[in-house]
Amino acid sequence: MSPFEYAPAPESAAVVDIASSYGLFIGNQFVPATGGTPFKTVNPATEEVLAEISEASSDDVDAAVAAARTAYTRVWSRMSGADRGKYLFRIARILQERAREFAVLETLDNGKPIKESRDVDLPLAAAHFFYHAGWADKLDYASLGPNPRPVGVVGQIVPWNFPLLMLAWKVAPALACGNTVVLKPAETTPLTALLFAEVCQQADLPPGVVNIITGAGPTGQAIVDHPGIDKLAFTGSTAVGKMIARSIAGTRKRATLELGGKAANIIFDDAPIDQAVEGIVNGIFFNQGHVCCAGSRILVQENIAEDLDRRLKRRLATLRVGDPMDKNTDVGAINSRKQLDRIEEMVAVGEAEGAQRWDSGCELPTNGFWFRPTVFSGVSQTHRIAQEEIFGPVVSVLTFRTPAEAVAKANNTPYGLSAGVWTEKGSRILWMADQLRAGVVWANTFNKFDPTSPFGGYKESGYGREGGRHGLEAYVTTGAQR
Ligand code: NDP
Repeated sequence: MSPFEYAPAPESAAVVDIASSYGLFIGNQFVPATGGTPFKTVNPATEEVLAEISEASSDDVDAAVAAARTAYTRVWSRMSGADRGKYLFRIARILQERAREFAVLETLDNGKPIKESRDVDLPLAAAHFFYHAGWADKLDYASLGPNPRPVGVVGQIVPWNFPLLMLAWKVAPALACGNTVVLKPAETTPLTALLFAEVCQQADLPPGVVNIITGAGPTGQAIVDHPGIDKLAFTGSTAVGKMIARSIAGTRKRATLELGGKAANIIFDDAPIDQAVEGIVNGIFFNQGHVCCAGSRILVQENIAEDLDRRLKRRLATLRVGDPMDKNTDVGAINSRKQLDRIEEMVAVGEAEGAQRWDSGCELPTNGFWFRPTVFSGVSQTHRIAQEEIFGPVVSVLTFRTPAEAVAKANNTPYGLSAGVWTEKGSRILWMADQLRAGVVWANTFNKFDPTSPFGGYKESGYGREGGRHGLEAYVTTGAQR
């Protein structure tokens, strides 16, 4: 070991108590599934089986929707906002109290570094409940329209990249506005949602307000198609988002869709270059690049491209890739074999298209799913690696000469979720933010999230906003709409 290497600093898994199998959470209790085929969730860093998970059938979806409907009509929609807020505050505090347990469980099930689940996912999940607890009794003053009322029973489908955080983004505003919920976590990361079910019990949430059912695509589809669902909130791939939009076309169901992205992280020649390098690292290597708003395309001004390339590679060589439970780890495991295959396929496409591939060559663990932080240079706009979401630790570097060219290239994608601008000039930041077709534009930073700030996309990145006052709009009907 060189004198400057870090000694291992493993977090203990003893703080979590994982059951060997889980039922479905319907009406505030865990019940067995009726008839689906159970599946296993594994630790992607070791490939060890963590637990057996139930597959909810359409009968189970029926039962969950019925429980949510009863809770909605009899209890939750009638409760005062102040009382609903008390439950949300209680959930937020329990999440804080049990943060370590949740963070460890998230890391075991998802593969993300413990320092991220501990310092990002958990604090933000709790913050979403605190924030929306505050709104519950103030909806009349949120400029949502006359007499805002809840929508009803909400179906929520979340992905595997931020399992608990996406749950919080969806459950907190739904409950604050008086709706009840049937939520399905992703097949590969159900465990923190199931632990959240215990939090609902601990908070004495009235039965049926939150129902959590597990399963794969067909279970999600059964939620989407169920006639008792009034509104859908989905985060995931654009392909599935389009299927959902098609399924509900012509029905009275409302939907918000938060889909993929191919964000440009734009570096001008007057940018503070070392900070920009940190912003690139955070933009694409945070959470192994499994981030819908990841800065997966670097657009760098041509005259500093070589300098940036050198500094970026020097920095990437210092990233520690490996055991997600080690507190020093920067880049953890890829969430699943399927996702690793997808990344490998896209990287092979990039090479075949003629882009130059570079990675740090760091050692990888023998078991589990791993991919080295990778940089493609010599990328042109028509390359698939510049157009399609890879959803892994892979970044494509393109160059530009003028601000107008940067804008044209940044907007040249079917997506429009986020963008980053690095420059010393305030006027240029404002001009760029005005021109970029992206729901979020970060200036001299990247991947900053806050419950007060609305998040969502343009174009094929979806529609609707989550977070902030805007995020409440999806969960209420107002006088004019009824
Ligand atoms: P999906 O869109 O398939 O998964 C997202 C959620 O939707 C999961 O809970 C999934 O369940 C569920 N789902 C799948 N099929 C249906 C359906 N027909 N009806 C309703 N719900 C459904 O993404 P993948 O996990 O397959 O990832 C594929 C690609 O999608 C990634 O490579 C990445 O590019 C992108 N992606 C983007 C995300 C984002 O936030 N923008 C998040 C996740 C993926 P289950 O997991 O059980 O199949």
